[in-house]
Amino acid sequence: MLGRAIGSFGKALGDRRWKAFGAGLEGISKEKVDVVVIGAGVVGLAVAREMALKGRDVLVVESASTFGTGTSSRNSEVIHAGIYYPPNSLKARFCVKGRELLYRYCADRQIPHQQIGKLIVATSVSEVPKLSILLRCGTDNGVKGLRMMEGSEAIRMEPKLHCVKALLSPCSGIVDSHSFMLSLAV
Ligand SMILES: Cc1cc2nc3c(=O)[nH]c(=O)nc-3n(C[C@H](O)[C@H](O)[C@H](O)COP(=O)(O)OP(=O)(O)OC[C@H]3O[C@@H](n4cnc5c(N)ncnc54)[C@H](O)[C@@H]3O)c2cc1C
Repeated sequence: MLGRAIGSFGKALGDRRWKAFGAGLEGISKEKVDVVVIGAGVVGLAVAREMALKGRDVLVVESASTFGTGTSSRNSEVIHAGIYYPPNSLKARFCVKGRELLYRYCADRQIPHQQIGKLIVATSVSEVPKLSILLRCGTDNGVKGLRMMEGSEAIRMEPKLHCVKALLSPCSGIVDSHSFMLSLAV
């Protein structure tokens, strides 16, 4: 059993709508749609929205009582820069491009988010080479503004830190994942 259909997107954006089906599978059998998306996490919602914008009738089926109650609302809500993935991998390319698109999407819709930056720290000299690898990997991935800094400089930014060196990633940020998913769903 898939679960209940918790939402349906109409053909045109103006007609896009959520329908609540409380009764379970009986509701689904009466729907005639172009596409069924199983799972209303952030990925399912984004895919459903995109297809609805392209003119498809989309039904989203979710086993929980509403959308976004799984991993998508229990994560760290970080907008990643794209540092960690192997260069030229799809993950690296999508992370860098997706970050830019996500910042723009959030700004256009007043979704709470902030480009606060991130410090990745080496707490001992033996960890410094790992930071250098990340710096090279992120730079190869097209992440802008990455910079290695001395521990003292990082500690001036964040006085409670303990580190010998740090890698500054200015384009990392945070987002309110629930507001983001709500914007995809309504
Ligand atoms: C601890 C942790 C921290 C993370 N931090 C970050 C972060 O800071 N930044 C970041 O970008 N990513 C982060 N991630 C990754 C990110 O959270 C996931 O990549 C993302 O949430 C996956 O979304 P999803 O829609 O694929 O899956 P989910 O959010 O898991 O959604 C899947 C949905 O499908 C439903 N479902 C499953 N099976 C069925 C079925 N048979 N029938 C009907 N419904 C079904 C589930 O109930 C659920 O609602 C983190 C992940 C973890 C685990």
